[in-house]
Amino acid sequence: MIRYFTRWRTRRILARHPIAEPAWRYALAYCAPARRLPAAEQARLRVLATLLLHDKALEPVQGLALDDGMRALLAAHACLPILHLGLGWYRGWHALVVYPGLFAPERDYVDQAGVVHHTRAVLEGEAWERGPVILSWEAVMQSGSPAGHNVVIHEMAHKLDMLSGTANGFPPLHACMDRPAWSQAFADAWHRLERARRAGHPVLMDPYGLENPGEFFAVASEMFFEQPAALLELSPDLYRQLTLFYRQQPIPA
Ligand SMILES: [Zn+2]
Repeated sequence: MIRYFTRWRTRRILARHPIAEPAWRYALAYCAPARRLPAAEQARLRVLATLLLHDKALEPVQGLALDDGMRALLAAHACLPILHLGLGWYRGWHALVVYPGLFAPERDYVDQAGVVHHTRAVLEGEAWERGPVILSWEAVMQSGSPAGHNVVIHEMAHKLDMLSGTANGFPPLHACMDRPAWSQAFADAWHRLERARRAGHPVLMDPYGLENPGEFFAVASEMFFEQPAALLELSPDLYRQLTLFYRQQPIPA
């Protein structure tokens, strides 16, 4: 009965609030990973994007206006990670807040010594636990530049990670997956990257991933969707774990 209701509700949303053809073409023009998908997967992405736009509030701030094409583009980026997981993986939060440019929220935090610090970091995106995803439109439009970079996928990966608590690089794995294999693949890739960075060698993956395991998972996820072949080359084990987690077909060898 619930399944029937869900299918009925989905059909109703798709019929009443479709993403119009020009808006979808705009989305594909600026979302390279979506453009590269086979036709059937692109159609699936469009369905998910339609449902996401119905399910989540897109809230532009500071004078930004989001037209249908921009909304479709945001939704296309956001739905790539859940293409084979489903919208249920974005449960527990309701809004995407979009700034026109980079944003610099002022924050107070207390360090381990009990000292209160006031910070004003410039951000491209942010994902709050049980709260909104915040994005800079400027950063969204820079997806793929530099290669492998995608702020929307990055923040959405944090959201998936947070489904099992804090963003610590351990999202809820599927029953078919092996936790030690996940940890090993991530730890090996981490250490290899760390060694390369220390030695001053060029690092294929954004070294921001070395901030902490949560960031490593988010940066690896960006690369998985933006530059799968490069990630496969960097770390076949990490690539395989992400293929299992995102339920994606491995790219042909
Ligand atoms: Zn992050």
